[in-house]
Amino acid sequence: MIPVNEPLLDGNEGLYLQECISSGWLSSEGPFVERFETEMAARVGRKFAVAVSNGTAALELALASMRLEPGSIVVLPTFCIISCAAAVIRNGCVPLFVDADPLTWNIDTEKLAELLEHEIVRKNNTKVKAIMPVHTYGLPVDMDRILKIADHYGLAVIEDAAEMHGQSYRGKACGSFGGISIFSFYANKLVTSGEGGMVLTDDPLLAERCRSLRNLCFQSGRRFVHEELGYNFRMSNLQAAVGVAQLERLDLFVTRKRRMGERYDELFDGCKYLQLPLPRTEYADNIYWVYGLVLGDEVESDAAAMMQKLAGRGIGTRPFFWPMHEQPVFRRMGILKENSYRYPVAERLARRGFYLPSGLGLRDENIYTVAEVVIEEIGKVL
Ligand SMILES: *Cc1c(COP(=O)(O)O)cnc(C)c1O
Repeated sequence: MIPVNEPLLDGNEGLYLQECISSGWLSSEGPFVERFETEMAARVGRKFAVAVSNGTAALELALASMRLEPGSIVVLPTFCIISCAAAVIRNGCVPLFVDADPLTWNIDTEKLAELLEHEIVRKNNTKVKAIMPVHTYGLPVDMDRILKIADHYGLAVIEDAAEMHGQSYRGKACGSFGGISIFSFYANKLVTSGEGGMVLTDDPLLAERCRSLRNLCFQSGRRFVHEELGYNFRMSNLQAAVGVAQLERLDLFVTRKRRMGERYDELFDGCKYLQLPLPRTEYADNIYWVYGLVLGDEVESDAAAMMQKLAGRGIGTRPFFWPMHEQPVFRRMGILKENSYRYPVAERLARRGFYLPSGLGLRDENIYTVAEVVIEEIGKVL
């Protein structure tokens, strides 16, 4: 096990960036883009990968490539980032939300099954077309269950693996499930290119459409004549160069994150007022992309107030996701008008949950201080 104190060795980022600059290849035409795609595809075990400007764009492109009929319903967790629902809406589809699991914080697959049974079997809702599982904070969604349900109803699966570089589900890489999947390479992700994203699939048609849509649907024959409306979602060679260098060290990053998670676990052990991340499920060990905490009911402070107290003592934290069904923008857009489902778990997680410093630069003594201050501050509000 690598101790958290050992400095992370420098990677090849500088070398590869210098190569971009010396060769003059800065734009998406440069060789690192294809190399990054090939290496990600190999790592995840997918046939095709399409690098894009960010994870949100990757979601948008993935959905666009599927050509779902306007008004199609995509089922996804309410406890996730807005990029997921935004991609659904921007593609003319309608998001339908499912509550979170109280322990894994991922989509509750039991409630997902109930919702689909209610919509498809009882209401004969023929518009439901896809499920978008989103692996959250470090533990993968129960993909066997998702794939079984999707198969049963003939639904497409779009896997959001934005936070799951290096994580696997029952030994199979996250990002390899369903018809199409995405990653993000934002600065706080396990592999970063500053900004960046990728769509992965085994379907040559979907990959081809993603490639075309990423680059304004230019045609090879008559370049400035367009049959379809595309986007400029290209990734630059500079970004891809950083991404390639980062990917070389992914296993090291994963080991480090796991070690950090274990350290926090040890330090919070026995603190019954805190719900810690599940260290493992039957299908995966937590990768601790971020280390989340949920305040117990005995704690007379919500997450926002606790975060403020911690900030006052020099500890920077981040709030959990705010549920999609409580987003003012979606209420205003009327997306929840006819929705009668309830989301008590996501609502509680949003109000009681936050995450601790989890960056790769964190050292043992920082983790110790953070845990000590958290326990002290909780002790004051019991
Ligand atoms: C980060 C993230 C995204 C969006 O990625 P960006 O590169 O920031 O656009 C999408 N989904 C999840 C689950 C994420 O964590």
